[in-house]
Amino acid sequence: KSKEKSGTHYHFFETEMSDRNMESIKLENALYKALDNEELVIYYQPQIDSRSETIIGVEALLRWIHPTEGMISPADFIPIAEETGLIIPIGEWVLKNACKQLKEWQDQGNTSLCMSVNLSGLQFEEDDLVIMVKGILEDVNLAPEFLHIELTENQIIKNTEITMRKMKQLKDLGVKIAIDDFGTGYSSLGYLKNFPIDALKIDKSFIQDVVEDSDNAAITNTIITLAQNLNLNVIAEGVETEEQLEFLLSRNCSIMQGFFFSRPIKAEELEKKYLRGL
Ligand code: C2E
Ligand code: MG
Ligand code: MG
Ligand code: MG
Repeated sequence: KSKEKSGTHYHFFETEMSDRNMESIKLENALYKALDNEELVIYYQPQIDSRSETIIGVEALLRWIHPTEGMISPADFIPIAEETGLIIPIGEWVLKNACKQLKEWQDQGNTSLCMSVNLSGLQFEEDDLVIMVKGILEDVNLAPEFLHIELTENQIIKNTEITMRKMKQLKDLGVKIAIDDFGTGYSSLGYLKNFPIDALKIDKSFIQDVVEDSDNAAITNTIITLAQNLNLNVIAEGVETEEQLEFLLSRNCSIMQGFFFSRPIKAEELEKKYLRGL
């Protein structure tokens, strides 16, 4: 009887898998063309300085506007881009365009605005990552300290040696580095003292019910204190409510990001709402 049951489960699992494979093969083929067809768009989400309550930077978040499927979330296509290696040209495109955009905004008078760009761990395995970043900064004529690279904990531990070397080289260029989704990874805290890090981003899963859930409050408190003691900036992501904001302010969290301030929006909208223009 139990054999029969597991047989059924297996069959069910198999159909579900092959449906998903079909779906991802279709997406994969479409993604190959997305870059050339100009279907990729960068949205920007403001990062707010807690003390001055002003915008100090933006995070570049990639969007895929599929001709028939509409907007596809990066959570759905970044994994495919990573499996196929497309993340390499796509990642370079994002970095280049985000830096160009920032330079334009700085030239319009937003002189100290920063740009955060998410990098995949796979990009850190490329031999020429640092040369690529350096080349873009030079082409765009952007001062390196305004570029902040975000990398998740799990991406770091996948390839510690190579990643650490590249992070150090990027730091030497003057670029800043933030650990994204901090607290959700499998790494030990020990790496914080060896890696050249400038900021921790508290994962939004902790912020989500930081006011109601004492465990999340404790974790958030601990991350903020850890960052302060290590002399790192700390950014709370996923701030959606005034209560969350108050909590974070009372703990001296230095930077905030979330729907409470703004969703990720198009460049033109960001300009109108948050930036100085010429
Ligand atoms: P992430 O870097 O941790 O980005 C934060 C995500 O949280 C974004 O989702 C953002 O839209 C969302 N978010 C911001 N504020 C709030 C809030 O208040 N509430 C909620 N519920 N969500 C909020 P998004 O844009 O869907 O991106 C998902 C992930 O995809 C990113 O997580 C990042 O890991 C990856 N990603 C996005 N763009 C790129 C890219 O250009 N390159 C790479 N390698 N990964 C990217
Ligand atoms: Mg990020
Ligand atoms: Mg994050
Ligand atoms: Mg994430």
